[in-house]
Amino acid sequence: MADITAKVFKYDPSVDDAPTFVTYEVDWVDDESGIMSALQVLHAVNEQEQLGYDWCCHSGLCNRCSMRVDGKAGLACWTPIEPGEHTFEPLAGFPVIRDLVVDKSDAYDKLVSVDVSIKTSSPMTTAKAIDFDLYWNTLERLNMCRECMCCYSVCPKIQEEGLGGRFVGPTAMMGIAQRYLDTEDESDRLAQSVYAGIFECDLCGECNKVCPAYIGIADIIAKMQEDAEARGLKPGETPYELY
Ligand code: SF4
Ligand code: SF4
Repeated sequence: MADITAKVFKYDPSVDDAPTFVTYEVDWVDDESGIMSALQVLHAVNEQEQLGYDWCCHSGLCNRCSMRVDGKAGLACWTPIEPGEHTFEPLAGFPVIRDLVVDKSDAYDKLVSVDVSIKTSSPMTTAKAIDFDLYWNTLERLNMCRECMCCYSVCPKIQEEGLGGRFVGPTAMMGIAQRYLDTEDESDRLAQSVYAGIFECDLCGECNKVCPAYIGIADIIAKMQEDAEARGLKPGETPYELY
């Protein structure tokens, strides 16, 4: 008797009319860690029947195994599995390439479009001192963004309006935030965040619940909204004529 029943989303848009779920029985791998990850389950499924899924690092860093396990977005390699029945689905809101692999390229284009490379008016020759708390609890955390796009997949604003709307989305906004909080960057990142639709975010906090880097995305956005409002940057009815 297998310990895990894996219900796996299967869909090849080039040949299938509609997605289906296929059930596989997988034995528990009882290694010394005492933990089995969702990704290990998928490896076992793939040995039974070829599966479209993506992974690389096995250690929560590369972002390629982001998907929904039991309905929750996350990294499969960092999602511990208990014996029992589990469902495996692709990240919501992205076109399916095959089975659990989705096309995230539009979201990556958004990230590139905000240009988060550091901007200074003259070459940096010395490093400024930086507040430890800001560095360790915020900037370093932002630096750990895996670009997994789990936050995009749960963001109601992005899911309702798509990536063509005013809001650039949580990941790209965190890129802007990283430079806004960075004491070296000299560009007006607050104005950029307003242009990138920061006030479209209603601070629902769904992104915070799934971020594998534990970035307080909604909290950072709330602080930037507050700062922008204090600077008189909060848009009125026709905000984008300003830019
Ligand atoms: S808090 Fe903002 S960015 Fe996060 S999920 Fe909600 S609307 Fe999207
Ligand atoms: S902010 Fe968090 S959830 Fe969003 S892409 Fe980065 S690591 Fe993933």
